[in-house]
Amino acid sequence: MSKKLPKLVVILPCYNEEEILPTTIKTMKSLLSSLIKDKKISPNSQICMVNDGSLDTTWEIIQKTCKKDKLFAGIKLSRNFGHQSTIIAGMYSIEADLYVTIDADLQDNPDCITEMLNEINNGADIVYGIRKSRKTDSFFKRGTAHLYYKLLKLFGVNILYNHADYRMMSKRAVETLKQFPERNLFLRATVPLLGFKTANVYYDRTPRTAGETKYPLNKMLALAWNGVSSFSIVPLRIVTFLGIFICFLSVLFLIYLYYRWSYRGTVVGWASLVTIITIFSGVQLLSLGIIGEYIAKIFVEAKKRPLFIVDEKINIQRDKNDESNSI
Ligand code: UDP
Ligand code: MG
Repeated sequence: MSKKLPKLVVILPCYNEEEILPTTIKTMKSLLSSLIKDKKISPNSQICMVNDGSLDTTWEIIQKTCKKDKLFAGIKLSRNFGHQSTIIAGMYSIEADLYVTIDADLQDNPDCITEMLNEINNGADIVYGIRKSRKTDSFFKRGTAHLYYKLLKLFGVNILYNHADYRMMSKRAVETLKQFPERNLFLRATVPLLGFKTANVYYDRTPRTAGETKYPLNKMLALAWNGVSSFSIVPLRIVTFLGIFICFLSVLFLIYLYYRWSYRGTVVGWASLVTIITIFSGVQLLSLGIIGEYIAKIFVEAKKRPLFIVDEKINIQRDKNDESNSI
């Protein structure tokens, strides 16, 4: 008796990827076709390209490809929503038994998909792609990435070292992910919260063959801060401890002032006064700033704005009702 083959959907987030997309389309088509031929996945499996408000001809390329070939599906977001929302838009808009998310530049070896499928067949619900080395990344990118993982770990955020957003998830895992209603989704830290049986697959990351990174420093910093502030209350706790420590210092200082006043007169230096005022104002502003950041998060969450808005869809099979696509 033959087992039902799973429908696999590969989600490719695309933002200004006109230079690399034609190569990616070719590579992914041959990979999926061979998986279908080998009867590892169902013939209605697809490659879903999600256009994240690109300013170049990315959407035109997607449209042309989907018209020619039903193996491809396309989703056009109404504007740029960022990498995380783009992946989510893909996963939530198309039905499948298995989902793979991989960057459109294929820096993360797509051949691992076969290995990921084996892990799923061994009972895993989530398979993480882990970069063995970052030799091909620039010194700066490697350094900042390393610092980032260390910082998150220090703040108690549970993420896998060297795992970006290259992963395979079962339908059950994706359905469970939908129960996380937060707007500030940081998948690398949210997916481990799902539990289930997981597995890792290791690969070497290759350099981008065309186009340039869509993750400049400011976006990387924003993602890093989102990771910390959405998953850790340690910064707020630091503020509390800093407050307690400074209160303690002030008491000591008051005792010292009383001693000076009683025994040696009240000639208190202007310099020391100014120093104290400066330090304390600094600490207070910093503390307010950190608390403000968290309040801002609550503000964003409270508004419950949609994570993504779909403008157009092509070749999306067995589509769900539209309301559930944008949450
Ligand atoms: N991306 C996106 N929206 C954005 C920025 C990036 O969908 O606002 C996509 C991009 O097209 C790529 C993936 O996210 O498929 C990762 O981006 P990139 O390869 O530039 O990041 P890097 O590998 O340099 O960290
Ligand atoms: Mg890349």
